[in-house]
Amino acid sequence: MHFLSHLGRLKLIKMEYGNEYGQVSGRKYESLLFDLDDTLYPLSSGLATECRKNIEDYMAQKLGIEESRIPDMCNILYKTYGTTMAGLRAIGYDFDYDEYHSFVHGRLPYEKLKPDYVLKNLLLSLPLRKIIFTNADKVHAAKVLTRLGLEDCFEGIICFESMNHPLKNTISDGEVGGFRPATTPSTEIFDIIGHFSQPNAGSKLPRTPIVCKPSEAAIDRALNIVNLNPQRTLFFDDSLRNIEAGKLMGLHTVLVGTSQRSKGADYAIESIHNMGDVLLDLWEAEEKPEKARYDDKVAIETYVTA
Ligand SMILES: [Mg+2]
Repeated sequence: MHFLSHLGRLKLIKMEYGNEYGQVSGRKYESLLFDLDDTLYPLSSGLATECRKNIEDYMAQKLGIEESRIPDMCNILYKTYGTTMAGLRAIGYDFDYDEYHSFVHGRLPYEKLKPDYVLKNLLLSLPLRKIIFTNADKVHAAKVLTRLGLEDCFEGIICFESMNHPLKNTISDGEVGGFRPATTPSTEIFDIIGHFSQPNAGSKLPRTPIVCKPSEAAIDRALNIVNLNPQRTLFFDDSLRNIEAGKLMGLHTVLVGTSQRSKGADYAIESIHNMGDVLLDLWEAEEKPEKARYDDKVAIETYVTA
């Protein structure tokens, strides 16, 4: 594979140089942090569309939300709270997280995901820490990674369960267990559509108990769980707002799914298969200071002898 042979050569150059002069510091990047959905497989697989449909069905069937309001509500909640689920909890719906996840992810056409041996070989060849960071639940993450054949490529998975305490939802205040209807709103529902149709109304947005990207708390928690130094970590995500948030937290960022670089994205790649290009570019950039010094010297000598 072209990339691997190139990678091998770079490593060799660095090692030789290090041995000779004994002053080469370690590589700047030591970890890769990956979003899962629409990052490790393309958006065109269609899972995202199906997932959205399932969320809308959940809102109608389980939460009894009026169907005509659902598309707008879904968009607003997703934009405001990171995930629709986090938004639903914020505005007052109470439901079992596991039930939600199995409804929304359980019926997804996972068979559309095929083993990606190219990506697998690429990941396994990189001598860096590799970690998944997803808002989805652990069952979904495991299913996706298995379908892609990537289950052995990562040190760990930071998912919904890692960021959210498991007991917070299943036992609410004053409840000592027993039957609790999963779909009964615990409080009055906040009118989120109304709120955004009157932006100057002055009412404050309710907060969500759910921790998820792109919040600072979620990224901070992820970095702590796996003890990552953001300055030495490359973060891959298909969501621009996650990338922007990651950048603010000090991560080096790669927007996946487009070649159009945007604010907050240090790099943009059409497909995760192009991640080798990013790493090569970074490693070559680290070599450049030496190269530049050498070029200066040549220039001076030429000048002197002329
Ligand atoms: Mg994603």
